[in-house]
Amino acid sequence: MSFQLPQLPYSYDALEPVIDAATLQVHHQGHHKTYVEKLNKALEKSPDLRDRSLEEMLSDLNSVPAELRTAVRNNGGGHYNHSLFWIVMRPAGGEGPRWDIGRAIDEKWGNFSNFRQEFSELANGQFGSGYAWLVVNADKRLEAYSTANQDSPLSDGKIPVLLIDVWEHAYYLKYRNGRAEYVQNWWNVVNWEQAQDNYQRALRESRSPVKV
Ligand code: MN
Repeated sequence: MSFQLPQLPYSYDALEPVIDAATLQVHHQGHHKTYVEKLNKALEKSPDLRDRSLEEMLSDLNSVPAELRTAVRNNGGGHYNHSLFWIVMRPAGGEGPRWDIGRAIDEKWGNFSNFRQEFSELANGQFGSGYAWLVVNADKRLEAYSTANQDSPLSDGKIPVLLIDVWEHAYYLKYRNGRAEYVQNWWNVVNWEQAQDNYQRALRESRSPVKV
């Protein structure tokens, strides 16, 4: 069994004008597909890992054989993170969080605006490639932080709820070096229903929101 590139739940032009079709297509069919292919290639050498899910391996990288650990961290992380990134966006999203997640954000940050500011600062401040995340931590509390490269919160014992990809490949065609403008516009395509589902599952089952 090998890992597969998931279909996007919308068309390539569905997130226009925030994310242009050309960027989304190369991001999905180029970058994400390459992570999947490299991960599968690396795991060919170790058929005994086939029984383990990617979520399990990312949650316990030390249990992955040393010669495969970097491939799982980078290409496995790339596959996992992108699979989640696609579903936390939707056309005409961005109305803001309600439900449990909205209340939990208000409790932690005072209001949505404060949260959005901190999350945006994390996204803009991530040096080089990486992600900003909203996660549920080991204490079952919401937390915002950022990771480098394709590192996953699962490897830090945290369960992802929401993420923004701030690799240049996510925005450079349209925004050039304007990461802050990309981050600001991205709030208009956030799928808060999905973030709410992710949050509830993290509290209820301590489980990753996607299985890839
Ligand atoms: Mn990416």
